[in-house]
Amino acid sequence: MSTIASAVSRMVTPVVGDTFDVERVRRDFPALLQSIDGKPLVYLDSAATTQKPDAVIEAVERFYREDNANIHRGVHRLSVRATDAYESARRKVARFVGASRPEEIVFVRGATEAINLVAQTFGRTHLGVGDEVLISHMEHHANIVPWQMLCEQTGAQLRVMPINDRGEIIIDEYERLLGPRTKLVSIAHVSNALGTINPVQGMIALAHARGIPVLVDGAQAVPHMKVDVRTLDADFYVFSGHKTFGPTGIGALYGRYELLDQLPPYQGGGDMITSVTFEKTTYAKAPQRFEAGTPHIAGAVGLGAAIDYLEAVGLQGITAYEHELLTYATEALSGLPEVHLVGTARDKAGVLSFTVDGAHPHDVGTILDQQGIAVRAGHHCAQPVMERFGVPATVRASLAFYNTREEIDVLVRGLRGVIEVFR
Ligand code: PLP
Repeated sequence: MSTIASAVSRMVTPVVGDTFDVERVRRDFPALLQSIDGKPLVYLDSAATTQKPDAVIEAVERFYREDNANIHRGVHRLSVRATDAYESARRKVARFVGASRPEEIVFVRGATEAINLVAQTFGRTHLGVGDEVLISHMEHHANIVPWQMLCEQTGAQLRVMPINDRGEIIIDEYERLLGPRTKLVSIAHVSNALGTINPVQGMIALAHARGIPVLVDGAQAVPHMKVDVRTLDADFYVFSGHKTFGPTGIGALYGRYELLDQLPPYQGGGDMITSVTFEKTTYAKAPQRFEAGTPHIAGAVGLGAAIDYLEAVGLQGITAYEHELLTYATEALSGLPEVHLVGTARDKAGVLSFTVDGAHPHDVGTILDQQGIAVRAGHHCAQPVMERFGVPATVRASLAFYNTREEIDVLVRGLRGVIEVFR
């Protein structure tokens, strides 16, 4: 049995009956088992990056200890093993998101690079002066700035679908904005700043009814719920390994193969060609065409191990557990009159963005850190949505399936302390 398989098989599926055994899960995450200034770490920053289970850490270590070599061009044993490990990770990602074939998965650095890739290939090919890209008001900068750059390059325009005071897309307005010049819709599956789960399946159907392709930014969805790109009928779907319990510097772009294989290259270099002469170069088929240069091989291996791990734990159990934890946390924070939630969508994932009366979010974050509580304070790379809610920044506590009710209680006690300081 491989080290990865044995690391995964050491875990017993933590859903027993209706009970999710969070203590068993926590033992798989070494970084969680530490103290900060003598206080147990309470890690509530998983929307920024998730902690890594032993299975992932061991897979990456084993790759460097045993299989490290460059891929695709080697004839020697290590290179064959490294290539197998990399391509096996691609198959895992494809299966995990429901792609019809591994060739629909391009390895990239993360969601940001995936969106830039689509903007610079699909966007440059299909958009011209007066054409439109439609995004929502709650997007992460990674799903705003690449389109603004594309608009500067092509003369296209960025259109923005409005959101209501709960932080939900106004679907009637969305439909109204889908016009003859709309060449692409690009939306977050889950908002990193508000936690809103957008009804992407229905939104894709509305766009497709008008022949408009859709990119879904799944950076905050894939770690928390079962995603099936074919059920959604997404044309492009992107996510980041490091938010999915895998390594940093690796992520995936899913693209419907007929669409992907029509796109021009993104970057030029080794491994993306079929032949090169000074007169003419011909390009490889997708996905190799988009993977110029030596990729993050160990990262892909680690992401594959993260997927094995998530599947062993079970995404259904994860979603149900996190939902229950979010309800508990929302009720607990609602009991503090000085705390105001920003983002109260009816369908939400485990993100609690809030302000505290009289306290700057950075001060809240710093005081909580002294209690061992890790939250994020700032605009969360989503300045337009902060502006929509009239705040420069929020404090954000974001959950994963390794968090507990007791940790929420610690957060609430920490916030009571903050409120005392600023009273
Ligand atoms: N999209 C969303 C919704 C995000 O939350 C993030 C990161 O926070 C990104 C895109 C960018 O991800 P990365 O920095 O991993 O490329």
